[in-house]
Amino acid sequence: MLDVVIIGSGPAGLCAAIYARRAGLSAVTIERSPMSGGQILNTYEVDNYPGLPGSNGFDMGMKFREHADKLGCEFMTANVLEIRTSCTERGELRAASVEEACGGAEDRFLVETDAGVLCAKAVVAAMGASHAKLNIPGEEAFAGRGVSYCATCDGAFFRGKTTAVIGGGDVAVEDAIFLARACEKVYLIHRRDELRAAKILQDQVMALPNVEILWDTVAREIEGGESVQALWLKNVKTGKKERLEVDGVFVAVGIIPDSGLVSGLADCDGRGYVIAGEDGASSLAGLFVAGDIRTKKLRQIITAAADGANAITSVQEYLLKMKIESQ
Ligand code: NAP
Repeated sequence: MLDVVIIGSGPAGLCAAIYARRAGLSAVTIERSPMSGGQILNTYEVDNYPGLPGSNGFDMGMKFREHADKLGCEFMTANVLEIRTSCTERGELRAASVEEACGGAEDRFLVETDAGVLCAKAVVAAMGASHAKLNIPGEEAFAGRGVSYCATCDGAFFRGKTTAVIGGGDVAVEDAIFLARACEKVYLIHRRDELRAAKILQDQVMALPNVEILWDTVAREIEGGESVQALWLKNVKTGKKERLEVDGVFVAVGIIPDSGLVSGLADCDGRGYVIAGEDGASSLAGLFVAGDIRTKKLRQIITAAADGANAITSVQEYLLKMKIESQ
């Protein structure tokens, strides 16, 4: 019986693993692939993490993981299929087999993976978030053939070519800056007349001669043959439609939380984020959340890492409470 199972190895999960190890908890961190780091692996440059200016996201992810390895944190590479618990917040019996699998104990979590089953007194869910889709014609058909959700992964294929980035947040602007280094021309297509991205990124992108921002513009369709050839656009203010010839389309329209595993166990908001405060406590006792998966104002590496630390502190308090109550 583990004290805690941590699911996810982005900054939140890795930080939780480090804090759990240092707290002397028995913990296993489950990661989908042995490449720890989560979304930062696809970030070309991270310039807002104190002490590490101008870091490469991939290197940063590797450093976080090296730190955890150095402390002896235990990792398991697996896909989590289901999380079950014997008691919900309302005390209903959800799965009798959990009690059997966890040695007759109540209030325990059974984490079922494709590589085996883990039993723990608490769970920290740090599964993060995935790229949102535009859901327009051509997006799915051309995925991997000119449509991409990761400029740092696929940007090199568009050297000397024309690309479009869709979105106005940090990721879209960072992607446009990154692509401008290799592409002949980059269009940044944003649905409003103001970018959401940090001011420093806005200043950087606006200073680039080969980046053109198309304001108040939405993408309606992606067109092509073997690969992407054009984007159909519409100006939301004038109603004007135009065909823009591009070789690649980078979609950066936000993230959706990967909360499917826990959405049936704990309360989520309308967008699927697990409702939790800074302590990471969800509506289900023993289930804690950390990082982009939880309701919060600022989703950044530093807040994800802080969440991991806070969640483990909450786990410690929870375990102590359980121990006192059982005496
Ligand atoms: P985001 O901040 O939510 O921005 C999404 C952008 O896409 C917004 O500009 C939004 O427009 C636009 N958008 C959403 N749906 C759209 C649609 N259907 N069609 C066209 N445009 C659409 O998402 P993000 O840029 O992926 O960033 C995710 C989180 O990670 C954010 O909290 C961000 O701050 C954080 N992040 C931080 C860093 C860093 O600290 N260095 C780097 C990257 C990301 P509106 O503006 O009109 O809503």
